[in-house]
Amino acid sequence: SLPPELYRQAVEEADLAISITDRHANILYANAAFTRVTGYQPEQVIGHNESMLSHRTTPREVYQELWSRLAAGQPWNGRLLNRRQDGSVYLAEVSITPVHAPDGSVSHYLGMHRDVTTLR
Ligand code: FAD
Repeated sequence: SLPPELYRQAVEEADLAISITDRHANILYANAAFTRVTGYQPEQVIGHNESMLSHRTTPREVYQELWSRLAAGQPWNGRLLNRRQDGSVYLAEVSITPVHAPDGSVSHYLGMHRDVTTLR
């Protein structure tokens, strides 16, 4: 079996922006690619909601669909308009997966995204 430190290091070095949140989408962890994509250092995002990435132009219905999927314990995949730390906008291809506690409830979320602006 893999040593736990290898899981941590593989996530840290993954070439996808990865964050782990509590069940309210408050960021607990962000990897190095998250900093490359968003411009934010981990200490600037930890404790803040993922909504800090929102460019505030994604239709409300998209977020409602996102949260109804997550509330049902299902993953959500889609595209969101995000804002980098420098204020510039990018199109994010986002995958959010619920992480379950031993009792079956959702305890955390795993968020993964990449910048697909140029692929548009
Ligand atoms: P919010 O106040 O968050 O509300 C929007 C809608 O979602 C409302 O209908 C509200 O009732 C519902 N809602 C919000 N929180 C919950 C909850 N905990 N349970 C059930 N329903 C809820 N957003 C982005 O814009 N860009 C991202 O890159 C991004 N990445 C995310 C990654 C992860 C792992 C998670 C869990 C969420 C991510 N989000 C992202 C969604 C983000 O948390 C916000 O919900 C979203 O940005 C809308 O923010 P808001 O302040 O406009 O609205």
